[in-house]
Amino acid sequence: MKLNKNIETILGCEKEYTDADIVIFGAPFDSTASYRPGTRFASKTMRSESYNMETYSPYLELDLEEDTAVFDAGELDLSLGNTPKTLETIYDFSKKLLEDKKLPFMIGGEHLVTYGSVKAVAEKYPDLHIIHFDAHADLRDEFLGTPFSHATVLHRCHDLLGDGRIFQFAIRSGEKAELNWGKKHVFTHMFDFANLDKTIKELENKPIYFTVDLDVLDPAVFPGTGTPEAGGVSFNELRLAMQAVATLNIVGTDM
Ligand code: MN
Ligand code: MN
Repeated sequence: MKLNKNIETILGCEKEYTDADIVIFGAPFDSTASYRPGTRFASKTMRSESYNMETYSPYLELDLEEDTAVFDAGELDLSLGNTPKTLETIYDFSKKLLEDKKLPFMIGGEHLVTYGSVKAVAEKYPDLHIIHFDAHADLRDEFLGTPFSHATVLHRCHDLLGDGRIFQFAIRSGEKAELNWGKKHVFTHMFDFANLDKTIKELENKPIYFTVDLDVLDPAVFPGTGTPEAGGVSFNELRLAMQAVATLNIVGTDM
C-alpha cells in the first residue's frame, strides 16, 4: 500500500509542475468587496468540494487526470489589507508561470485580482484581448475613493491594453456614466451571449485572457457571491459559452 502526503489539490490536478501546461492557483483576497465578503475562501472551498465530483466530463468527453496536465500550486500568500502588495504578488507569480511556459489559471478572490495576472500576461502578449463574463461591467474609474477595486478592474485593464481590446458579455449592472464610458472604449454585450459567436470569429488567432466572474450566473443557480444580481444566465448557457471561448488561443484565465 502506497502512502501519500496529505496535500489537497483540486481533484485530478495532480501533475508535476515540470509536466504541466496549466497551473491553477488560488488568490484568496477580498479586501475591496463592497457587499458580502468571503471570496477569500473560494479557492480552498473549491479544492475540498471537488472531491465530490468525477474527473470525467461527459460534456467534453475528457478526463482531468488522463487527458490534461494541470498542476495545482495551492494558495498564494497574500497581504490582506494591502492591495498594491497583493497585486504585485499575483503579477510576480503569473510572470514566473509565463516564463516557464505555463498557462496561469487563477481562482479568486474578488475580481480585482485579475489586474495582477492580466498585467503579467499583457507584457508577454502585447496584442492581448480580454473576454469578460460578469453581471457587472466593472468599468468605474474609481469606487469608494479607490482606483483599485473589484468595481474598477476592467477599467484598470483598459489602462494596460487601450481601446477595442475588452469584450464583455451578459452584463446586467452598471451605473450610467460607467456604461457610457464603456460604449466608447470596450465592447459591452448586455444580458446574454447572443453576440459571442461573432466575437469569437473576430478574435481567432488573437491571444486571449478569459476572465469569468461567477455572478454572471443567475443567483437562483449560484447564490454564493459577493454582489448577486437577478436575471443572470443558466448553468448550461454559461457552460456552452465557456466551451466556445475555449476554442480560442487562451493565454491566461481566471474565475
Ligand atoms: Mn466582476
Ligand atoms: Mn460581478
